[in-house]
Amino acid sequence: MANHEILRMLIDTHCHYNHPQMNQNQSDVPDTLQRARLAGVKAHIVVGYDLESSRRAVALADKYSDIAAAVGLHPHDASEWSTEFESLIYSWANNPNVVAIGEIGLDYYRNLSPKDKQQEVFKRQLDLAEHVQLPVIIHCREAYDDALGILNRESVKKLGGVMHCWAGEPEQALATVRLGMFLGIGGTSTYVKATNVHASIEATPLDCLLFETDAPYLTPMPFRGKRNEPSYLPLVAERVAELKRVPVSSAQASVWNNSVRCFPRLQCITEASL
Ligand SMILES: [Zn+2]
Ligand SMILES: [Zn+2]
Repeated sequence: MANHEILRMLIDTHCHYNHPQMNQNQSDVPDTLQRARLAGVKAHIVVGYDLESSRRAVALADKYSDIAAAVGLHPHDASEWSTEFESLIYSWANNPNVVAIGEIGLDYYRNLSPKDKQQEVFKRQLDLAEHVQLPVIIHCREAYDDALGILNRESVKKLGGVMHCWAGEPEQALATVRLGMFLGIGGTSTYVKATNVHASIEATPLDCLLFETDAPYLTPMPFRGKRNEPSYLPLVAERVAELKRVPVSSAQASVWNNSVRCFPRLQCITEASL
């Protein structure tokens, strides 16, 4: 089947319509969302990274039926953790449009908050996810060993989640899926030099992968250099299908099911969008 004949059915499990770069003017979000719908993206998870972006993610999820939200504090901003933020996350988690806690985790590449503070806030938010019984969206950069150590707990094995924007080695990918977590595959999979990402995709069963754009970041080829947006998600699906040596339609169908398994609250949103 030629590509243009494939019925697109995709979920962008990680994007930032809540980011200033995706809100350049009043029509930016509705226009970008419309392009994504035309490209076959049926649902989006807008992921918070601090208090204000989490608040915006929830507002977008309440406004648009094909948007769900995740709320949490990014490791870059771990120093900003407060009891106020913690109680806000608890109240947001009661909203059925909030499908996960994230993005949370560790980032030793930029170390914008001290390592020990990042670890403390990461653990606090894992406790919180356990209390509200939601899966987690993990941001991890140059910190896989520490992150996997912290994630090795019963609640994570039970509630699961995703290691978003996968950038690790194949052995780390297998260790991640052994914890019951999915790998979030994004635009880096289309980069020629990202051989560790390609090898990770080849080594990991298809039923452990999710698709994401992380828009406005990490634009896939051939649009690298432009602002990323969810309408480019089919490029990720095509690259993953190629690496897994399966038809794009079957990669899409598997990953759709994976997304709903990972985020049970997505079920209502995806059913309504079909
Ligand atoms: Zn991230
Ligand atoms: Zn992100």
